[in-house]
Amino acid sequence: AATIWYEKDADLSVFEGKKVAILGYGSQGHAHALNLRDSGVDVVVGLRPTSKSVDYAKEQGLEVKPVGEAVAEADVVMILLPDQYQAKVYKEEVEPNLKPGAALAFAHGFNIHYGYIKPSEDHPVFMVAPKGPGHIVRREYAAGRGVPVVVAVEQDPDGKTWPLCLAYAKALGALRAGAIKTTFTEETETDLFGEQDVLMGGINHLCDLGFDVLTEAGYQPEIAYFEVFHELKMLVDLANEGGLNKARWSCSDTAQYGDYTSTVITEETKKRMQYQLKRIQDGSFAKEFMDDQAAGAPKFKQLQEEYSHPHLETVGPKLRAMFSWNNQVDADADMAESF
Ligand code: NDP
Ligand code: MG
Ligand code: MG
Repeated sequence: AATIWYEKDADLSVFEGKKVAILGYGSQGHAHALNLRDSGVDVVVGLRPTSKSVDYAKEQGLEVKPVGEAVAEADVVMILLPDQYQAKVYKEEVEPNLKPGAALAFAHGFNIHYGYIKPSEDHPVFMVAPKGPGHIVRREYAAGRGVPVVVAVEQDPDGKTWPLCLAYAKALGALRAGAIKTTFTEETETDLFGEQDVLMGGINHLCDLGFDVLTEAGYQPEIAYFEVFHELKMLVDLANEGGLNKARWSCSDTAQYGDYTSTVITEETKKRMQYQLKRIQDGSFAKEFMDDQAAGAPKFKQLQEEYSHPHLETVGPKLRAMFSWNNQVDADADMAESF
């Protein structure tokens, strides 16, 4: 069984006399900086001086410095930059300024696992990867709860990396929910698989395709939106509380029978998933993504453009505005600011 750690398993005193640099102030960066600060950790945010987030972070009471300066005074450096830029920033601004023995931390194993960042052996390397978007990591912490994380240690030169890793997870509020032990390899490969084959690449395409099929068959787009997309959240909420069985239990027998007998997801889908997983494991997905990024991201930008108007969004904004809980989320200051 997986090893899971909770509040009692970590000690925040590990941070006494230590400074933590959080590089980046995006989705994860703002959540880590604010949660750690509110847990009593001495935090400095590292940003390029041109960043639109400099003033925003300062307004929230945080110390902000250029990346190199923040790194130079830190005992722990958490790198929360987009994965495709981390290697360059590491080479140019992190490595030359890193204190001897300072720890490097990540929220995703990509750069270490695929070898884009190769820290020298004297630096502890660990991961605290929240299994949720950064804005929820902050929102849950503020509500006295936490988003679960997976944690891993890649280099442990001083024998103190695990207690440091768990203390970081605790300061983030994550141990209120729990931290599951993993490795950089397992986290990287399963994270990529989850997002490209199920959570995003699976569900997103499925919803949009379902919308096309209904509207092309002459049904009203508003009705189609509700049937293939809007209700998803409610089913996911139920599944989150009690698993797929609870979501099924709450639906009609008619719905259940249709679910069990559906022919949409086939053995062929499983083969596609296995093919995608193989491309993750052998590094070809990572290489394709990073090569495109290195060339100025032509394919990524073209795909972003191509997918920027999902068909179901022709009616989405109008329908979402009808629901008060959605309006509340849109009014969330943190979310609005960095969206
Ligand atoms: P974001 O894109 O939200 O934030 C990126 C931040 O990095 C911004 O503050 C940006 O500032 C800064 N930045 C970008 N380029 C540079 C640069 N060259 N020099 C200095 N600062 C730079 O990133 P995420 O929070 O989404 O991702 C961060 C890490 O967390 C990744 O490893 C990701 O895989 C991981 N992760 C993300 C999750 C999420 O919820 N998004 C979930 C779990 C893990 P500016 O451009 O203003 O200068
Ligand atoms: Mg993930
Ligand atoms: Mg990911």
